[in-house]
Amino acid sequence: MGDYKTKEIVEKYKFKFTKTLGQNFLVDDNVIKDIVNGAEVTSEDFVIEIGPGVGSLTREILNKAKRVASIEIDKNLIPILVEELKDFDNFQLIHKDALKADFNEIIGEETSVKLVANLPYYLTTPIMARLLSEKYNFKSLTVMIQSEVADRINAEPNCKEYGSLSLLVQYYCNTNIIRKVSPAAFLPRPKVDSIIIRLDKLDEPRVKVYNEDLFFKIIRSSFNMRRKTLSNALKALQIPKEIIEKAFEESNINPIRRGETLSIEEFAELTNKLHQLTKSL
Ligand code: SAM
Repeated sequence: MGDYKTKEIVEKYKFKFTKTLGQNFLVDDNVIKDIVNGAEVTSEDFVIEIGPGVGSLTREILNKAKRVASIEIDKNLIPILVEELKDFDNFQLIHKDALKADFNEIIGEETSVKLVANLPYYLTTPIMARLLSEKYNFKSLTVMIQSEVADRINAEPNCKEYGSLSLLVQYYCNTNIIRKVSPAAFLPRPKVDSIIIRLDKLDEPRVKVYNEDLFFKIIRSSFNMRRKTLSNALKALQIPKEIIEKAFEESNINPIRRGETLSIEEFAELTNKLHQLTKSL
């Protein structure tokens, strides 16, 4: 029997799991400790947690952090969390959908902000896209995700996992795999392996891009039609053909290449040329 008593709490309150909310609670205390150690939480940190469940991971974070705000969507978990974590005066519970929460308001004046979460799998990509592209001042995001998503995040050009998610995360962060986690660590058990990964925000994005909107539009168009050549895929941008051809030429990128062969530096170069050439239109 572990310190965090996830199973006992679930039984005590007769909690019913909702599959569509990605509710797989951690029952392995070592994994809980590895998440918080991997996140390098200190007494200076304000931690935001998404999806506290019955509060097992939350409790470990509360023991290490200055303050914790946890965002939970399931109304049935709110009274359980209030009761189980009532002894902590550094805990704030926010009953909201994390996709709609106002992170600027939650962060307020805090400067040392970290995100720590055992994410529901359906939320992984949309929440990471939101938290990174909306540029909140997180120092790091330590998350439990499906191992297949971790492969996509860390992918290099020319492999099938490489895509928009790899470029989004690599543009803003360095990535550190903390450890692999087997389905046995959860209740109920998911079908796939998971990974704890820490994303450390870079002081400046990895490459200099003058128009981030255009950069991510080019990336999305290139991977929407993976099998098409770049010159075909970029037709979706509705920029005159001559300008696109000139941008390829000036950035030394062969338009018959496919998007999945381009490095982040090449996407940046192509974006900056297109930005420069379309500015005067
Ligand atoms: N942190 C707990 C643990 O590790 O045992 C629970 C993790 S469980 C994988 C995911 C949690 O996220 C659940 O408590 C679920 O209700 C919550 N959740 C699902 N969708 C959410 C959303 N959109 N916003 C906030 N919380 C959400």
